[in-house]
Amino acid sequence: MKGAQIGVTETMINRAFHMLDVRRIDVMYLFPTTDDASDFSAGRFDQALEMSPHLKDLFSDVSNIGHKRAGGTSFYCRGSRSRSKLKSVPVGGLFIDEYDEMVAENVPLARERLSGHEEKFEMNVSTPTIPEHGISVVYNSSSQFGFYIQCESCSHRQTLSWEDDGSGSVDWLGEDFKTATFQCKKCKKPWSHEHKINAVSKGGYERITGKDGDESVSVHIGQLYSPTITAHELVNEFLNADNEFKRTEFFNSKLGLPYVAKGAKLSLTEIKKSIRGGVHEQQTSVAATMGIDVGQNEDHRVEIAEWEAGGAIKKVIKTVICGWERLPSLVMQYNVACVIIDALPERAKSREFVRMFSGRAYMAFYPEGMKNLYTVDEKASTVNIHRTEAIDTVFARYRNDTLWLPMDMVQFERYAIELCSPTRIMKMNKQTGEPIARYVESTGTDHFAHASVYNEIAHEIAPISLNIASAQDEIHEPELEGVFMI
Ligand SMILES: [Zn+2]
Repeated sequence: MKGAQIGVTETMINRAFHMLDVRRIDVMYLFPTTDDASDFSAGRFDQALEMSPHLKDLFSDVSNIGHKRAGGTSFYCRGSRSRSKLKSVPVGGLFIDEYDEMVAENVPLARERLSGHEEKFEMNVSTPTIPEHGISVVYNSSSQFGFYIQCESCSHRQTLSWEDDGSGSVDWLGEDFKTATFQCKKCKKPWSHEHKINAVSKGGYERITGKDGDESVSVHIGQLYSPTITAHELVNEFLNADNEFKRTEFFNSKLGLPYVAKGAKLSLTEIKKSIRGGVHEQQTSVAATMGIDVGQNEDHRVEIAEWEAGGAIKKVIKTVICGWERLPSLVMQYNVACVIIDALPERAKSREFVRMFSGRAYMAFYPEGMKNLYTVDEKASTVNIHRTEAIDTVFARYRNDTLWLPMDMVQFERYAIELCSPTRIMKMNKQTGEPIARYVESTGTDHFAHASVYNEIAHEIAPISLNIASAQDEIHEPELEGVFMI
């Protein structure tokens, strides 16, 4: 887990070359995208060869971007998006650069490449994003080592850390970055920049957690250790971080620490305060909507809601976890006027369900590059949803008090946990240079959050369905009844 520009990638490249050269082991170097792999090949890789006659002699064929030969051994350079390129290449060393940018579901496929090798080595490196996500999970699940340096005045050994209350390794007065200086965390003696560099050069790694013999070890290095970044620069950057995007950048890229921006995720308190009134009495005269997130093991998350004041108030009346068999009867029981179901991962079964309720059921997709909140294809019974905007909409209901949850919610705990998982992060779009927001899972699965999204969009679409079958007796079409009797 690292800050930006502190030479960790360089270390990783050296390690990969060493494996290939000295130990004659095939290695795979994994990047987020194929473009990143090409940039690496034309940039750092070629540069390293230019600077080292030894490496130049080592590689016999470097013309292929994804596969470079060094005699009998191979250096594979791959992007994480292409599943096919991650298959059928056995390697002994796997190097994953910018772990938090990877297509997460393809990382196990890359790891599978190590399975045939007796001596496996894997190195994961990344600037972190949020806690409990990506590299932060890898860091926390390994034996942690810290880089310790010693204070010349009091001999106290310590890691460098950041606090904004004067107790950390950098201290300053008020809002003046020019007063900033490194200091000993114990005796508080100020260290000049040169003094700190000198202390770092004499320092070393020491265990923080775990025990000898643990297979996996992790380290955290941020820019506090950098020989080129001064206390003035760090504090100036910190004081100028006047919005959550800049603050996130400061913690992630400068300090190399995961950070959750204010309001980036729902809190349990926010969810609890939406619980209103007594036990809900179902009003059968009001048409309801339903959102279904399809689970892997017949554990689909279902959220059913009624709407008041033209949709201004959403009243969740029921949450259910169930299998395929129960879904049709729920649609009937709650007089559902519009239902949206996840198209994936079981597209055929979702399609079958949608056909049963033709005209009021839709399969949902989350395509990239959406401009509107959603678009409907009535003919195909599909709806494309802007994932980030739709989760924003769902979360906004908790914050502007337009959501009611029932007191007697059977699945409340699971519902709340899953609604608290999606966390909004900002990523720089490499093509445009503009930041883009997206939600990632932090504390476990987020299925109910998506059921809630589908339900929200179901309400947006519902009036169309209601126009087709506005009266209750029309919703209960006779030919459909037979389907439910099976
Ligand atoms: Zn000291």
